[in-house]
Amino acid sequence: MNAAGNPSNKKSNPDASAKGEREFIRRLAAELGPGTGPVGFGNDLAALEPVAGGLLWSTDMLMDGVDFESGKHAWRDIGRKAMAVNLSDCAAGATVPVAALCAVALNDQLSMDDALELFRGVRDCGAEYDCPITGGDTNSWAQPTVICITVAARPDADRPSVTRGGARPGDRIYLTGRVGGSLLGRHMQPTPRILIALDINRQLNPRAMIDISDGLAIDLWHICESSGCGATIDEKSLDNVVHPDAERLARKTGKPPREHALYDGEDFELIVVVAGDAPADACRRLGLLPLGEITVEHKLMLRQGDGRRSPLEIRGWEHFRA
Ligand SMILES: [Mg+2]
Repeated sequence: MNAAGNPSNKKSNPDASAKGEREFIRRLAAELGPGTGPVGFGNDLAALEPVAGGLLWSTDMLMDGVDFESGKHAWRDIGRKAMAVNLSDCAAGATVPVAALCAVALNDQLSMDDALELFRGVRDCGAEYDCPITGGDTNSWAQPTVICITVAARPDADRPSVTRGGARPGDRIYLTGRVGGSLLGRHMQPTPRILIALDINRQLNPRAMIDISDGLAIDLWHICESSGCGATIDEKSLDNVVHPDAERLARKTGKPPREHALYDGEDFELIVVVAGDAPADACRRLGLLPLGEITVEHKLMLRQGDGRRSPLEIRGWEHFRA
C-alpha cells in the first residue's frame, strides 16, 4: 500500500503477492478503522489538519536481528516497541504526537496473522498516546523484517518544543529515571515519557532534552555537541541513577553496574537540562534525578567525591561502527 493504505503494484510476483497484500490490507483496515481527518484510511495520501506552531516529524526504523529478535519476541511486542521508540522522540521534544505512518518490509515467511499482530502492537501503543496510524506501506521480501514508523507531533499548547541545542555552561542535568541493564527485558517494553516531558516543559522550562536510546553517555554527548559545551557527571549522582537491572546484568558480565548505566542503550528515559537547580519539590513531583552539570570545556567528565575529575569515554550504541 502507499501513503494511506492502498495496495501498491511494485511486486516481483504480482498475482500472488498483490492478492495476498489486498487481503492483508482489507483485514488491516478492518482493525485500524476508517481513520480520522479529511482523508480516510485507504487513499493515496493521508491528511493532517494544520496546527499552530507547525507539525514536527520523527522517524525511526527497527530491524529484525538488530532492534528485536523475531525468533524470541512476540510480534505484538515488536510492533509496540516500534511505535514506542518513535513516541519517545516526541517526548524528547516535549511534543504531543498527532498521527503515524507505518511502513514495513515483512519477511515473506511471516504469516498474515503475525503481520496483523505486529500492526496491532503498533496501533495499541499509538492509541495510548492518541496517535493513530493514518497510513503506511506493506512490502514483503526474503530478508529479515524491517519496520519504519514516522510520527507527526505538535507543540504543546503555548509551549515551544525542546531541542538538544539549548544547554549552557552552569545548567543542571537531570534524568527522568534510572538507567542500565535494559537488555534484561525493558528494552522490549519502553514507556515513552510523553506525559512527564510535557509536565517538565510546563514547570521547568528546560533548555535541552534528549531521550536515551543509544546510551546515557553518548546521548548526553549529543546534547553537548548540539549545544557547543561539555558535561560533568557527579560520581555519587551516577551511582544514584543505576537501575537495579544494571546491577543484575553486572553480576553476569563482571562489569561495574556504573558501566551499564553509562553505556547500555534503550532505556528511553529523558536527559533534561535546566537553567540552574530545579526546585527540590518539582524534582520530587516529576521524579527527576540529578546527574551533574553542563560545562564550558567540550568534554564528558566524571567528578569524584573529592572534586577530582577524570574524562569519561564517549560511546554507546552506534550504527556504522568502523
Ligand atoms: Mg531520540
